[in-house]
Amino acid sequence: MALRQDDNRPNRRFGIINLVLIGFGVLLLFSNFLPNTGAQVPRVPYSLFIDQVNDGHVKRAYITQDQIRYEITDAEEGAPSVLATTPIFDMELPQRLEQKGVEFAAAPPKRPNFFTTLLSWVVPPLIFILVLQFFARRQMGGGAQGALSFTKSKAKVYVPDEESRVTFADVAGVDEAKTELNEIVDFLKNPERYAAIGARIPKGVLLVGPPGTGKTLLSKAVAGEAGVPFFIISGSEFVELFVGAGAARVRDLFEEAKKKAPCIIFIDELDAIGKSRSGSMGVVGGNDEREQTLNQLLTEMDGFTGQDKPVIVLAATNQPETLDAALLRPGRFDRQVLVDRPDLSGRKKILDIYANKVKLAEGVDLDKIAQATSGFAGADLANLVNEGALLAARAYRTTVEQKDLNEAIERVVAGLEKKSRVLQPDEKKVVAYHEVGHAIVGHLMPGGSKVAKISIVPRGMAALGYTLQLPTEERFLNSKEDLEGQIATLLGGRSAEEIVFGEVTTGAANDLQRATDIAEQMVGTYGMSDTLGPLAYDKQGGSRFLGGGSNPRRSVSDATAQAIDKEVRGLVDRAHNRALAILHGNRALLEDIASKILDKEVIEGDDLKDLLASSTLPSEAMLAPV
Ligand code: ADP
Ligand code: MG
Ligand code: ZN
Repeated sequence: MALRQDDNRPNRRFGIINLVLIGFGVLLLFSNFLPNTGAQVPRVPYSLFIDQVNDGHVKRAYITQDQIRYEITDAEEGAPSVLATTPIFDMELPQRLEQKGVEFAAAPPKRPNFFTTLLSWVVPPLIFILVLQFFARRQMGGGAQGALSFTKSKAKVYVPDEESRVTFADVAGVDEAKTELNEIVDFLKNPERYAAIGARIPKGVLLVGPPGTGKTLLSKAVAGEAGVPFFIISGSEFVELFVGAGAARVRDLFEEAKKKAPCIIFIDELDAIGKSRSGSMGVVGGNDEREQTLNQLLTEMDGFTGQDKPVIVLAATNQPETLDAALLRPGRFDRQVLVDRPDLSGRKKILDIYANKVKLAEGVDLDKIAQATSGFAGADLANLVNEGALLAARAYRTTVEQKDLNEAIERVVAGLEKKSRVLQPDEKKVVAYHEVGHAIVGHLMPGGSKVAKISIVPRGMAALGYTLQLPTEERFLNSKEDLEGQIATLLGGRSAEEIVFGEVTTGAANDLQRATDIAEQMVGTYGMSDTLGPLAYDKQGGSRFLGGGSNPRRSVSDATAQAIDKEVRGLVDRAHNRALAILHGNRALLEDIASKILDKEVIEGDDLKDLLASSTLPSEAMLAPV
C-alpha cells in the first residue's frame, strides 16, 4: 500500500496571511519614522542651546516632547539656521525664553491618528498568531499543517496498490478473527447484495487483543482484500492540547472518509478516547476533551446510515474492559473480534510466513521453535526470525540455522520478560492441570454456562492460562446452587494442583479472591445463609468504581461478625471439598485432557465437548464433607 499524507491546502491560505502581516509590519515601521524623516535638522547639545538663548541668538523655538527645534538669528554663511536639541526637564525654560524675547510655541499634545491606533490594535494579535503558528509547525514535525488546521484529522490514507497490498495470507494464527473479518470484506465488496435484502451492514468492528497480535495488520488486510482505501489514525491523536480539536478532527475524518467510500477507518488504541465515562468519575478535573471527542465519534457513527457505499469503522484495543458501554451498543462497535496470542499451530504458521522471507538453512525445524515460544505474539515471532537472521549475518553465514533461532528466542524472551511470561515446562504442566481442573468442575456444576475453551497460552503477567466459560443463556438471577457451583469451579484449579502435585502454587490467588468474594456476597448481600437469615450485612450503594468492589459492612455485633466469617468459610470449604471429590472421581479424565492440552495448548469447540462429555458427577455421598 502506498502511504501519502493528505492535501496541503492550509499552506496556501497561510501564504496570504503572511503577506498581509508583513505589509502591516512595514507600514508600522514607517508610521514611527514619519516625523523624523521630514526634515534633517542638525542636533546640538542642550547646553549650547541654553548658551545661545542667553546670548540672545535664538529667534524662535518650537518645543515638543522629544525635541526642541529652534532658529538662530545670526547663522554663519552656509551653516544651518535651524537646529534641534533634546529637551531636558527644565521648569525655567519658558521664563528664560521670555526674558530673552524668544518667540516660542509648544506642540499640541500628541493625538494618535486613526491609523496608528488601528495598527496598535491589530498588529500584536497578528504577531501572536504568527508565533503560535511557528511553534505549531515545529510541533507537527514541519508537516503541511498550520496553526488553524488543528481541526484537520491527521489520518493517513493507504490506498492499496498491487505490490504492497496486505492480504489475509500475510496474517496467520488468528483464524477465527479472519473468518469474522472475511464477512466485512464481503460487505465492502458487495454492499448492494446486502442492501437489496434490507440487511444493515455493521458499522463498527472492535478488534480486541494483546499488543502485537496483528490487529493493525488484520485491518490493513481487510482493506487489502476488499481493495478499498484505508484511513488509519490512533485514538491518542485525536486528543490534543486544544479543547474541541478532537471532536473537530473526528468530524473531518468522517467527512474525508465519506468522500472516499466504500472505505475503512481504522482507529488504533480506541481506549485513548473511549474510556468509560463513569469509570473516570473519581479522577479530579474534567476529561471534557476526551468526552467531547467520544461523543462526536458516537454521533458520526450514528450518522452515516442509509449510505449505499459503506464506511466501516474498525478499531483496536487491548483494554476492552475500560471502554465506555455506549461504544459497544448496536449500531456502533457491535461486533467484537478476539485477536488472541497464537497457539502452537498458529505460531508455526506465523513462523512459516517470516521464515520464507529469510534464507533458512537445510533442516531447520520450525516446529521446535514454535513449541518453545508459547506466549509469543505474532510481532514477537516476526522479531524472532529477524533476530535469527541478524545473528547469522553477524557470523558471516549465508543461511539462518537452528542455533540462530534458538539464540534469538532467548533474546526476544529477555525483551519480553517485563511484558509477559514464557512458561517453563514444569510450570506449563501445573497450569495445564489447573485449567483442566476448572474445566471439569465447571462442566459438572449447575449455573447455566458451558466451558468453551481451555488455553495454557499465557496472557500477560496475571493469567498463565485460562478456562473460558460462556453462558448458555442470558441470566439475570443466580440461585444459591449456581453460586456454590461457581465457587467450586473457581476452586477447581487449585484442587487439581492439590490432587496431582500434592501442593499448591501461587497461581490460584486470583481464583481464591473471586471465590471468597462470591461467598461473602452470598452471606452479606444476598442473605443466602440459613443460620444468619435474609439480612443484608453489607452496605450497598456508594460508588462501585471508587469502592473497588468491597462493600463496607453494616455495624454488627462481634458475635454476628464472627458468624458471618464462619459462614463464608463454611461455603468456601464445602465448595472446595466438592471440587476435590469431583476431580478424584474423574482423575483419569483429568490426566487425559491435561496431556492433550500440553500438546496442543488450546482445546475448544467440539473437541472439548466430546472430552468433557465423559465426565461423571460423583454421588451425593461423595460430595458430603470429608
Ligand atoms: P497490534 O496492532 O495487534 O499491536 P500489529 O498488527 O501492529 O499488532 O503487529 C505488528 C507486526 O507483527 C505486524 O506488522 C506483523 O509483522 C507482525 N504480526 C503480528 N501478528 C501477526 C500475525 N498474526 N501474523 C503475521 N504477522 C503478525
Ligand atoms: Mg497496532
Ligand atoms: Zn485458576
